[in-house]
Amino acid sequence: MAGGLLGRVVGKGAASGKQFAVSMSEEEWRRKLSPAAYHVLREHGTERAGTSKLDKEYGLGVYHCAGCGQPVFAAATKFNSGTGWPSFWAPLDNAVETSTDRSFFMTRTEVHCNRCGGHLGHVFDDGPQPTGQRYCMNGVALDFHAGEELPEGSADITGMKPKAR
Ligand SMILES: [Zn+2]
Repeated sequence: MAGGLLGRVVGKGAASGKQFAVSMSEEEWRRKLSPAAYHVLREHGTERAGTSKLDKEYGLGVYHCAGCGQPVFAAATKFNSGTGWPSFWAPLDNAVETSTDRSFFMTRTEVHCNRCGGHLGHVFDDGPQPTGQRYCMNGVALDFHAGEELPEGSADITGMKPKAR
């Protein structure tokens, strides 16, 4: 199917005119990322449901952007959405941005890393409390750091208390 073409068109639209702190040429991204990660992060691809081992990962830790390494989600906000994609009810503070995605004859809210512009997934408003949001992410766009603690300053936003000492 025409996924590649659509992906390029969408990718340009979503990130146009925006300079990200981490910026590389498409060639450099291709060298840095696996083909699957490149397709999702740089071409707005979507991995097949149920293919990421992070879908069933519920251990404590922090999820980082697979493009630039920025922390984007905490394990404490992850839940089982039953969709086959890793799902969270909130991102970390100051980690992601959204844009309107009108591909595939739908209007969806696209989610990308605010540091490198890498496409992570989409957000929907049918998630659980306390936010009611469902961040439907591609596992291949995330790096899970098991056991890692939250970055400084993110505790308030996710409703989590900093680890007791
Ligand atoms: Zn990133």
